[in-house]
Amino acid sequence: MSADQLLTYLSWLMFTIIFVVVTVQAIRRPSRAHLDIALLFAAPVLIIAIAIGTLLGVFSSTGVAAYLASSALLSLPYLLVRLVDDIIVAALWVRRSIEVLLVIALICLWVLPVERPAWINILLELYVIAVLIYVIFASVKATLKARGVTHRRLAAMSLGSLFLVMNIAVGSLGLWLPEQIALWRAMAELLGLAAGVSYLVGFAPPRWLRRAWQEPELRAFLGRAATLPRLPTTNAIVQALQQGAADSIGIENARIGLWDEANQVLLFEQAGQQAALSIDEDIPTAHAFRMQKPIFSPNTHYSEQIRARSAHFNSASALLAAPITAGTRRLGVLIAYAPRAPIFADDDLALIQLLADQAAVILESRVLIDQAARVHGREEAARLKEDFLSAAAHDLKTPLTTLVARAQLMERRAQRDPTAPADQASIQVLITEAQRLKRLVLDLLDATRVEQGQLVSRREKVDLVVLVHDICARLATPRHPCTIDGETEVVGYYDQQRIAQLLDNLVENAIKYSPDGGPIRISVRHEDSGINMSVTDHGIGIPADDIPHLFTRFHRGTNVDDRRFPGMGLGLFICKGIVEQHGGQIMIHSQPGQGSTFQVSLPFVPNEVVTYDS
Ligand code: ADP
Repeated sequence: MSADQLLTYLSWLMFTIIFVVVTVQAIRRPSRAHLDIALLFAAPVLIIAIAIGTLLGVFSSTGVAAYLASSALLSLPYLLVRLVDDIIVAALWVRRSIEVLLVIALICLWVLPVERPAWINILLELYVIAVLIYVIFASVKATLKARGVTHRRLAAMSLGSLFLVMNIAVGSLGLWLPEQIALWRAMAELLGLAAGVSYLVGFAPPRWLRRAWQEPELRAFLGRAATLPRLPTTNAIVQALQQGAADSIGIENARIGLWDEANQVLLFEQAGQQAALSIDEDIPTAHAFRMQKPIFSPNTHYSEQIRARSAHFNSASALLAAPITAGTRRLGVLIAYAPRAPIFADDDLALIQLLADQAAVILESRVLIDQAARVHGREEAARLKEDFLSAAAHDLKTPLTTLVARAQLMERRAQRDPTAPADQASIQVLITEAQRLKRLVLDLLDATRVEQGQLVSRREKVDLVVLVHDICARLATPRHPCTIDGETEVVGYYDQQRIAQLLDNLVENAIKYSPDGGPIRISVRHEDSGINMSVTDHGIGIPADDIPHLFTRFHRGTNVDDRRFPGMGLGLFICKGIVEQHGGQIMIHSQPGQGSTFQVSLPFVPNEVVTYDS
């Protein structure tokens, strides 16, 4: 036996084995797709059987058997179209035209004599090629659109069609180059076999292959699952779950309906619109939810009413639906749609339940996270209120006590000696403490304005250097002399009062937190990036761990105690608000025991800022 003969026999054997396998499958589960795949392999096996019969001399090469073989050959493209239609929906007119053409072709074959005119043979070949081109076109188009396992199945089908075309091309070439005919025929057989295997793998992939094909998407989805509960909204989680389920099953559409206990409906969200589905409807989705078990429906028809209410039911034909339930809590239902039932495999029912269970865990985690956040938020608000009240009460108490005590002292003196001259020293104490009180109350008010973004209001032309000189003159003391360096003039448009408040705060802190005295240096520089101002002292400095928290409300350094350094911890919070609402930034550089520098950078605003009221 020559090598090419061996190849031919091997490919015949393979075709026969595949035919037996798919026929057994079709008898066990006689669905349309299984029958179609059995028919597709029946045709080549019939041709092979007739070829063997002719070789053994049982059939003549011109008898009925030869006609049967040719008919089987002509029917192949049509059988392929049927199979393609089991997975991709082919247009009805295309299917009908191919059927009509097949009947005409078969009539030509059986009615006309063996020596047909050449043009009829050419027409028959054209028919076969045209149908094959259609199949390739349709399957490549569907391959590009599909995802996951379906993409891989359709790719195998496209490859099968390509092998089939090559098989015809090689077969025809063999006719033109007759000296190598045996080799050409063997090659054609091999290509035919490759086409057959590709179709088998594409249309009816064995379970292990399907699992392997599904694995990457499933793995990716499960890998992402842990992060999903932290997505910003439940809707975003539902979208991600739908996408993950569609990818894992290898379909275009998966939908999640969330159970609305109050209204007893399933709510589907699509393109910003909500559709409600009553669970009393007589459709698989509602059945799956009511019976709390996964359901496969190969051919689902929806009433017009349901179609009208929910656009996504329109294109659906085959579907899988599984309840999403966490323990005893019913959360919703997961549905996977496909235009044709064979897109799904038998064990996809188990897969969709697995995905629905995963969805339940994710949605339930989300609920728990939300609850925890609410509790945390309430606790945080209560803590803030308490902090606020105790800080405010504590800081208001000191000046108030002094005020009341001093006023009572003055009252007693006045009662004892009504003609005595006014106690100037006590009046001064009253004024200082009243001003301190006013300052505290204003700080409390400003702190609330920071949050509302309403600190900075009217901007006006201001020379920052002049402002800094004023502050220095006002606050410097012999123990805390103030020096200024940098520009001699920086004129821009800022909220003068707030910038003065900012610098006041920083310089007052520099003085307050330098209890042993020391110079305070202020610099104002106009740089390419904008205006840079800094306030430097040689005081107690700030522990590194405190620095990131100092701009939050009420935070005070761990190296300051209330008696030695009274304060509420609101000043820097307000400073940050003023700087940020001017579009700038504030930073701290500090060494404990050596001193601190507060650095403020502001955008340079040379012209009046015009705001347009809409
Ligand atoms: P208060 O001074 O009322 O505590 P601030 O918000 O102005 O509030 O300051 C917050 C904290 O930052 C202070 O308690 C102090 O610990 C620290 N701090 C601010 N400025 C300085 C500085 N110049 N030197 C050292 N520590 C400072």
